[in-house]
Amino acid sequence: MKVLFAAAEETPFVKTGGLADVIGALPAQLKKSDCDVKVILPLYREIPPELKEKMSYIDGLVVPLAWRRQFTGLKKLIHNGIEHYFIENEYYFDRKGIYGYPDDGERFAFFCRAVLESLPFLNFKPDIIHLHDWHTALISTFLKADYQKKLFYKDIKTVFTIHNLQYQGIFPAAYLEDILSLDHSYFTQEGLEFYGQLNYLKGGLNFSQKITTVSNSYAEEIQKPLYGENLDGVLRKRCQDLTGIINGIDYDIYNPSSDPLIYKKYDVNDLENKYENKIKLQQELKLKPDGSKEIPLIGFISRLVSQKGLDLLIKILDDMMKLDLQLVVLGTGESRYEGLLRKKALTYPEKLSVNIKFDNKLAHRIYAASDLFLMPSLFEPCGLGQLIAMRYGSIPVVRETGGLKDTVSPVSLTDSKTNPVQGNGFTFQGLNPYSLLEQLTYTLHLFQKKEIWKNIMKKAMRSDYSWKQSAQRYIDLYNELSVLID
Ligand code: ADP
Repeated sequence: MKVLFAAAEETPFVKTGGLADVIGALPAQLKKSDCDVKVILPLYREIPPELKEKMSYIDGLVVPLAWRRQFTGLKKLIHNGIEHYFIENEYYFDRKGIYGYPDDGERFAFFCRAVLESLPFLNFKPDIIHLHDWHTALISTFLKADYQKKLFYKDIKTVFTIHNLQYQGIFPAAYLEDILSLDHSYFTQEGLEFYGQLNYLKGGLNFSQKITTVSNSYAEEIQKPLYGENLDGVLRKRCQDLTGIINGIDYDIYNPSSDPLIYKKYDVNDLENKYENKIKLQQELKLKPDGSKEIPLIGFISRLVSQKGLDLLIKILDDMMKLDLQLVVLGTGESRYEGLLRKKALTYPEKLSVNIKFDNKLAHRIYAASDLFLMPSLFEPCGLGQLIAMRYGSIPVVRETGGLKDTVSPVSLTDSKTNPVQGNGFTFQGLNPYSLLEQLTYTLHLFQKKEIWKNIMKKAMRSDYSWKQSAQRYIDLYNELSVLID
């Protein structure tokens, strides 16, 4: 089975969120099961120079985008045992950052065309192109509209994975001809039309043979109006082809016993060294050092957007600061949240550390140092933060939604001597900030019971959220499609 992953980000090339982690880890796991998988990405300016230097030039081609003709370089790099291809175009990708430009609709339409135009130059004809999020969704639309008329492309199938339904790539209707070069039959309910505009993600939903999303619960939720982002009807229509496959994390990168980015390595049998990480982080961030190990350190690493429950957190922040705890925030996002959090940090310098930046090393250090990890998301397709936190023995406190619900099972205490704790974290249901505060207060009460807490940590650290099982589910899905290919 030959599979090409098309995506807009991958760690360690570029990362803004969990998508990058997934693309950075899943292909290597698929390869272990003899799936011949390769990855194609845009060649952004942001990619670290040491990785760019190792790339080799494959070829140059001219990619049509309606009336435009864009010269495109095609580069290659074997990374982590996986062949990667890069689409090089200075005009679209030699810019600061990855997203957020007014012409993103043109940039990613170009990327989709360029992926398809590049295939004959790659010496690799995929059976399946696996598309991730709206940036690559048009590949299935272009295949249907143009390319499948040609013999080379005729049998190629697509799988579309929704990593977050909130981001859909919605652009003006005029793009249909001027950028996508599609005729009006695609401006319909069954095509890309969406309240008078164009919705790229909808193309992925309508024209891919299979649709997946990143947890079972989210797969259910998005078929209902509350979480469906106005696409629940389309998803209900495709429910036979929609599956939830939970994300894993890269167990080599996120491993407290070998992580080069943390202060002191540790594992489940040697939790004393975890406390070293806490003391050092408190020093680095100028929080009050806690020699007594009594003060719980709470981590919050996230994009600072409404989805992540920032309004709940901010509402109870002053109440939280009355409790004996410390909170470390790391994130970037909406300026209203950044500003508010910065201001609060000035009020509580010894208890609240607010770090408004994207900093991978600090993220690892917070996972290693923290006792608790907060994710009060309003919705969460999968969530990787809670999985990474558990791997580092930082106990998640999460809202019961989407992937959080599927991966964090609430702690309960038992009478059994051999198995005194069940569950691996703490959950709350409501959207009321005080449900979160209540859960947090109970959690902090348990934190003081050292033996019980150690057992909770062990339970969380022994939960298996590696990619092994989920990769197999993708293989099964690809195999279902191969029947159609034959
Ligand atoms: P999402 O994809 O919605 O942003 P996830 O929980 O799935 O959320 O994944 C977020 C990933 O990005 C995690 O690996 C997390 O550690 C990382 N991350 C988020 N914000 C930052 C930041 N400011 N600095 C470093 N890493 C971050």
